[in-house]
Amino acid sequence: MNQESVRSLKGIGDKTGKLFEKLGVSTVDDLLHYYPRAYHAYEEPKAINELKTDMVGTVAGVLQKDASVRRFQNIQVITASLRDQTGTVQLVWYNMPFLRNTLQSGTYHVFCGKVVKKNNRLTMEQPEIYTKEGYLAVMEHMQPVYGQTKGLGNKAISRAVAQALDMRQMEQEYMPEGLRKKYELAEYNFAIEHIHFPADKQQLLFARKRLVFDEFFLFLLGVRRLKEKRENVRSSWVMKLSPEVKRLKEHLPYKLTQAQEAVLHEIEWDLSSGLAMNRLIQGDVGSGKTILAVLALLHTAYNGCQGALMAPTEVLAKQHFESMEQLFLQYQIPKKPVLVTGSMTAKEKRAAYEMIKNHEADIIIGTHALIQEKVVYNKLALVITDEQHRFGVGQREMLGEKGEKPHVMVMSATPIPRTLAIILYGDLDISIIDELPANRRPIKNCVVDTGYRKKAYDFIARQVKEGRQAYVICPMVEASEMIEAENVLDYAETLSRELVGVTVACLHGKMKGREKNQIMERFAAGEIQVLVSTTVVEVGVNVPNATVMMIENAERFGLAQLHQLRGRVGRGRYQSYCIMVNCGDQEGTQKRLDILNRSNDGFYIASEDLKLRGPGDIFGIRQSGDMEFQLADIFTDADILKTVSEEVNGLLKGDPKLEREEHQKLRQRLDAYLKLSYEKLNL
Ligand code: ADP
Ligand code: MG
Repeated sequence: MNQESVRSLKGIGDKTGKLFEKLGVSTVDDLLHYYPRAYHAYEEPKAINELKTDMVGTVAGVLQKDASVRRFQNIQVITASLRDQTGTVQLVWYNMPFLRNTLQSGTYHVFCGKVVKKNNRLTMEQPEIYTKEGYLAVMEHMQPVYGQTKGLGNKAISRAVAQALDMRQMEQEYMPEGLRKKYELAEYNFAIEHIHFPADKQQLLFARKRLVFDEFFLFLLGVRRLKEKRENVRSSWVMKLSPEVKRLKEHLPYKLTQAQEAVLHEIEWDLSSGLAMNRLIQGDVGSGKTILAVLALLHTAYNGCQGALMAPTEVLAKQHFESMEQLFLQYQIPKKPVLVTGSMTAKEKRAAYEMIKNHEADIIIGTHALIQEKVVYNKLALVITDEQHRFGVGQREMLGEKGEKPHVMVMSATPIPRTLAIILYGDLDISIIDELPANRRPIKNCVVDTGYRKKAYDFIARQVKEGRQAYVICPMVEASEMIEAENVLDYAETLSRELVGVTVACLHGKMKGREKNQIMERFAAGEIQVLVSTTVVEVGVNVPNATVMMIENAERFGLAQLHQLRGRVGRGRYQSYCIMVNCGDQEGTQKRLDILNRSNDGFYIASEDLKLRGPGDIFGIRQSGDMEFQLADIFTDADILKTVSEEVNGLLKGDPKLEREEHQKLRQRLDAYLKLSYEKLNL
């Protein structure tokens, strides 16, 4: 593995290096594993009347007239016009007067660019120009499309990747030969190269299959290692169930559902059993997992021990902390929660660490800052991770190693079928909350096109007038040249103009932690009425007064993710609504979104989604957020997952510690994988 900085590549200095870091790429190795998000295949040119505004299209033909150049303030504008039997399109370039030599009357070209309406005329802006032969050549190759950031575009990333591939040292194959043969897996170095630059779809699938196999393989080896460590471990924390907890439960403003009661019973049994708890609590969004965590933490606190609750985002951690503080105040519970997050000042952190160390704090809530070295716990007996799918095996392991083998409980809303859950969480017992609180009104859904926006804004305005709040989700933070999608910054501006007298704010992952917290707090307090956000609000956030979830570019999100987003509303007593704006014109999209329109049930959605997408559907939209896999998708790659699981079992049966000569490289690779997974935590 090449741990040299990306700055060691030609053409990447400090500035570009920083931009790469924004994308999570600091080393050459990171770059090699920065896989494309999609692949652009150059398509056959279209008839001009097939062009639609806002699409990136390709047309070809013979120019009827020479291109003309005009000066417009300080810009040289060169225009040409292309006509076929179906219509005419204007072509425009800025400050490229030399193109006049190319764009002469009677010459044949292929133009590929973004289509807009200008002065009510169909116009292609700054299209790329190809000769017939040149275009035929690019049509033969698929071009990678990477996730980008402002100032660092697709071309620059592709070039850097190509360079990294050129200068890389080949990795030694670590996958046992037998497995590679049996499953016809590509060689590792080949796979890495062709996931970036496949000649065609077949080659891409071949490369991808190998890398997916690897992801599952290493992950499951890691899980097995955890399982072994955990199985039948006697716990030093044998708890007495506290009557205070029972009292609190009976005085809550609602009655626990039967499913919650059953799971609570399992948790309580674990805590008092004498064996260490290792339990996954799975329950759909809104099924009420948090209160179970609170009750478990309180049992722990009343037993004179500490409990920790780890959330994947600061926003969520902060929210858990605040609602717990409030609850304890309200019910006069003499236990103290503290918050530890990355964005706290050094001084705040020190104070928190001190309180943890001397046991002033009974319950510690935070992000992954909780597992950093500096936190010294005092009788840590229970560790809970919320929205577990955001955390990797390494994190799961590390948290379990803090203190003296605490009880471990993980909570997840990912609707995974039991058979898959047993594989993915092989180290854990599984409890399922399969029931929603009865007082919920089902969310009303609609899927609309962009023409409906105006109506949607009016609807939001009316809800706000009634005292409610709304989320609007955009896929992007800022405008991008390559990707056609709504962005938070521009959208918030537009909405502020449209919704007069309404407080609109934005939230996205590039904001500083503190800023995010402030915005979220103000939204929770009702000071902000409409929150325009990226998917950072996707997990866990609970603002019961919010009743509208409007999702722009809904076609860009996986169904599981849309379901999570929708789960942000319908959490209180008000009727809630989800408006999904389909900005695409692909046929499959409407079908997919219809599934969500029909149902609010996470398991049903996941299974229908799978039917539509089918195995190995990599061009469909990836489910985001399911575990730590980069390429693998636990749903569409379920068959590979099952196969790998069997193979891992077989492998470890014969060589439990991977000590055999032929497994040397595999063991080294596994160690490196786990180490990397730890290191990512300490960034
Ligand atoms: P999730 O399972 O998605 O984490 P939460 O724990 O955040 O869901 O619960 C969502 C909302 O439902 C919270 O406002 C919580 O107070 C409420 N809630 C939890 N359990 C019940 C119940 N049994 N009856 C009514 N409301 C409940
Ligand atoms: Mg939750």
